[in-house]
Amino acid sequence: MLSASITERLRAGNVLGAEGYVFELERRGYIKAGPFVPEVVLDFPGAVRELHREFLRAGAEVMVALTYYAHREKLRDVGREGDLEAMNRQAVRIAREVAREGDVLVAGNVCNTWAYDPEDPATRDIVRDMYTEQLSWAAEEGVDFVISETNDYLGEALIALEVIQGLGLPAMVTMAPTQPHLTRDGYEYADACRILAAEGAQIVGLNCDRGPRTMVPLIARIRETVECAVAIQPVPYRTDAIAPTMETLLSPKGERSFPVGLDPFTCTRFDMAQFALQARELGVDYIGICCGAGPHHVRAMAEALGREVPASRYSPSMELHPMFRADVSARDAAFLPSWNA
Ligand SMILES: [Zn+2]
Repeated sequence: MLSASITERLRAGNVLGAEGYVFELERRGYIKAGPFVPEVVLDFPGAVRELHREFLRAGAEVMVALTYYAHREKLRDVGREGDLEAMNRQAVRIAREVAREGDVLVAGNVCNTWAYDPEDPATRDIVRDMYTEQLSWAAEEGVDFVISETNDYLGEALIALEVIQGLGLPAMVTMAPTQPHLTRDGYEYADACRILAAEGAQIVGLNCDRGPRTMVPLIARIRETVECAVAIQPVPYRTDAIAPTMETLLSPKGERSFPVGLDPFTCTRFDMAQFALQARELGVDYIGICCGAGPHHVRAMAEALGREVPASRYSPSMELHPMFRADVSARDAAFLPSWNA
């Protein structure tokens, strides 16, 4: 039996997404921070497979192929342009392989290219060519839909949408809200989403850069503006009015924490569970998480949405902890004064 498409799933209810592969594999020692090119896909495919599986067990309903920054511009920076096709194809194969272990979908993935310049029309063709080659390989390997994400420019996002539509695939297109209200080419986020929806994107919204607290107000505006499905995938960091994005978070010494010193700002699983409920309450359809995500966040989000997922088998049972159970033994209770000191 063919599994339901992304649009059918969204009509039936919320879809839970999970991303942040690049940050997590960097933490695990398989991706170099700075270029952030997913060389791991070719060099350590088992590490990618394992992380997909962890997100799958935690309840993610979409395996996103790790082709983020696997585009010509970025691979040239690290001297691996010759591996471009192999890396893109392999990423989709790995995602498909794990998706088959559960009834979940596979998404192809493209992102901002750093090659687009709204002032230079020639860059439109460069960007279109980059997306076309990446997504043609993805389509050949077999993806159910495509996520175009972390878009700074509406203009660049529209090129991605055009390429995705040319391949006959459903499109989820999300903007990266790095600025307070406007895309880098001057559109309010809600307007950018309205235009993307009018051009035929099945799902629009925001991902990356902002934590739940500072992304939710922007998504509320988008939800009021568009009729189509809306996606939100914040980073699990405690951004606030003073530091609205992960890039602006500062250490106590006043140093920039992005991208490898963000740990003290990490949201707990409880923060992310609360966020998932808030997103559902707002009428957001695709609820996910971006850079910084761990499987524990995803499981907490899934369970907050009322689901039992494979990893729920190991969800906390504190009533079984020697110190928290109802009948704490006298010997164990002797530890309590020092725990409470
Ligand atoms: Zn991200």
